[in-house]
Amino acid sequence: MYLTWLADARLYEMLADIDADLAETARRAGCLVCGGVLHSACFPRKPRGGPDELPAGYDRRHSFCCAVDGCRTRRTPASVRFLGRKVYLGAVVVLATALRHGPPRPRVARLRELLGVDARTLERWRHWWRRTFAERPWWQAMRARFAPPVPAATLPGSLGLRFAGASSEPLVALLRFVAPTTTTSDGAGLFEGRRRPAEDAR
Ligand SMILES: [Zn+2]
Repeated sequence: MYLTWLADARLYEMLADIDADLAETARRAGCLVCGGVLHSACFPRKPRGGPDELPAGYDRRHSFCCAVDGCRTRRTPASVRFLGRKVYLGAVVVLATALRHGPPRPRVARLRELLGVDARTLERWRHWWRRTFAERPWWQAMRARFAPPVPAATLPGSLGLRFAGASSEPLVALLRFVAPTTTTSDGAGLFEGRRRPAEDAR
């Protein structure tokens, strides 16, 4: 079932719309340092794992730069499409990792065929959710919102189960929930490095 969501073009349009809203909200707020006007300064991206035909705009992540001389502070709004520097789309990172915890547990070969994700990458993501994500202060604070507790060993699937909705709505809700952590200017900077906006070289 999850895999059919990833083939649904509407999911990507919905995520693009949410990102556009998040970007517009950030732009309107202006520079957090000096209050100056923000100009667009997008990061180029080459997202992997989505369908061949992604909606327009998936080749860049919204970002802004303060127009005031001497400030020029960058502000990158939260994103539901990109998990910080990860080259794969956020939806793919969440679902492919969640699917590994099944049931039914699809074989790694099938995920590679469908999403172009190899076993090593999957293992890295699994480890990342279980350790890097689960141990950060942001999650340690947020997890208190959930009762019973969300098991760290089966993140992010265990978190996804806590969001209600039809078809891909729980996935979108999960991506929205973790979105504040996808940027250094809004959250703990779980996903985003200041110096390297993308890990496309990997
Ligand atoms: Zn400024």
